[in-house]
Amino acid sequence: MTVPPPALVYLIGAGPGDPGLLTLRGRDLLARADLVLYDYLADPRMLIHARPGAELICLGRHGHGRLQGQDEVNAQMIAAARAGRVVARLKGGDSTIFGRLAEEVAALETADIPYEVVPGVTAAAAASAYAGVPLTHRDAASCVAFVTGRQSDDRTGDALDLAALAQFPGTLVFYMGVTTAPLWAPGLIANGKPASTPVAIVRHASLPKQWIKHTTLGELTEELAPGKVRPPALVVVGEAVAAAGASAWFARRPLFGKTVLVTRPAQQADEFAARFEELGASVLQQPAIAIGPPRDSRPLEDALARLAEFGWVVFSSANGVERFLAALQASGRDLRALGPIKLATIGPATTAALAAHGLQADVQPHEYRAEELAAALLTAARAGQHFLLVRASRGRETLHDELTAAGGQVTQVVAYDSQDVPAPDADVAAQLRDGRIDWITVTSSAIARSLVNMFGAELRRARLAAISPLTAGVLADAGYPATVVAAEYTAEGVAQAILAAV
Ligand code: SAH
Repeated sequence: MTVPPPALVYLIGAGPGDPGLLTLRGRDLLARADLVLYDYLADPRMLIHARPGAELICLGRHGHGRLQGQDEVNAQMIAAARAGRVVARLKGGDSTIFGRLAEEVAALETADIPYEVVPGVTAAAAASAYAGVPLTHRDAASCVAFVTGRQSDDRTGDALDLAALAQFPGTLVFYMGVTTAPLWAPGLIANGKPASTPVAIVRHASLPKQWIKHTTLGELTEELAPGKVRPPALVVVGEAVAAAGASAWFARRPLFGKTVLVTRPAQQADEFAARFEELGASVLQQPAIAIGPPRDSRPLEDALARLAEFGWVVFSSANGVERFLAALQASGRDLRALGPIKLATIGPATTAALAAHGLQADVQPHEYRAEELAAALLTAARAGQHFLLVRASRGRETLHDELTAAGGQVTQVVAYDSQDVPAPDADVAAQLRDGRIDWITVTSSAIARSLVNMFGAELRRARLAAISPLTAGVLADAGYPATVVAAEYTAEGVAQAILAAV
């Protein structure tokens, strides 16, 4: 038997929106791809699974139709595969349900390109699980039909059999049925389906902007009058829709329906963004500062070369920990070079960064600010000890000044460069202007200053959540007082402060 060649094209169901609903198989294959072709319904947040350097092409934007026709998509897949590139074709929901899969498969078969198909969570399953619109129900529906609204226009000659659908003894789920409802809804009623049949319209199932409306078949045409509900939305018709026991967990998330802007540097933003997503928020990211390698790495290298001279290494950010340890490794040594040196951190995130490398902080102040760290160090350190402060290219001199004033020997090294991002992303700026951002997280004083430069008076269009009184002070001085200030000066403290205010 001949062994078939490994697939070059993977047709992957991307799920209904929530990026966590991509299958493990889909994620693994995405990571293998050289070229990713994704539909507008495949959430771009999934693309973090693509390997760095993979080419990413969006095939359409919502409301703008496809940027490429089906033939072009097929030609592009085939050309890439022939050139030996692995292609991931990400399609919304389940690729086999109203996904024009057959056309893509036929093209691949004709071109003799090996491929695989990976299923995904279809929109109807998301509406059922996330929006609490049951499709089947022990008392109300023992079968379910997936219907495309596209074919309700019988001028296409491929019309839906509305008489049969009206008699269908279960739930009808209409995909692509929003604009065509004025055709099929009265048609179902004319064929005997009661106008009182319960209906749910579910838009953006599984996403923080999920929206649901309960109505009846008789009122559906009015509910879906032109311009009232924009796709993507499902229309679910049947007694199960109104049956007891619907799940409501998703919309109960504390920040459901809220939009939060995360402004941390890109390297630190994802975990914070994920926390807000878990709380139900839509998250936008606009880094206010960019961090990178120091302009001059020699002072850090010199300090590392004479590490044994220091009694303490003091870290004022998790980022400093990462850069310092990377430089240590790059110098050809490892953690053993730290030997008996004591380590201090400004707060829990910095301590956690050390712990991730198997190192414990000897000192971390109770209140996470430089004054407290200086006091804690002066209590813990012996007189005359030499402190190495690992810091950003800019920041406060408090630690240096207070340790020096108390007779400590202090060497400061810049472990990373911190710069303001000059201008915001146009889409983020537009959303802020339109009042579509509820909260802006301000997680350091440097970020506060940069945001003031970046957005100016537009900052009044959202509520500001500051990480500490110091950061809140920077905002207040600029004329933009924070709505909430974290009680614990950490990213999680900011999340808690927002939660307490909603
Ligand atoms: N293959 C996809 C369906 C593609 S057809 C799947 O399995 O889900 C596109 C239609 O799917 C949209 O017009 C809308 O009716 C529906 N749809 C897709 N994602 C949706 C979502 N998150 N919420 C509601 N409807 C959605």
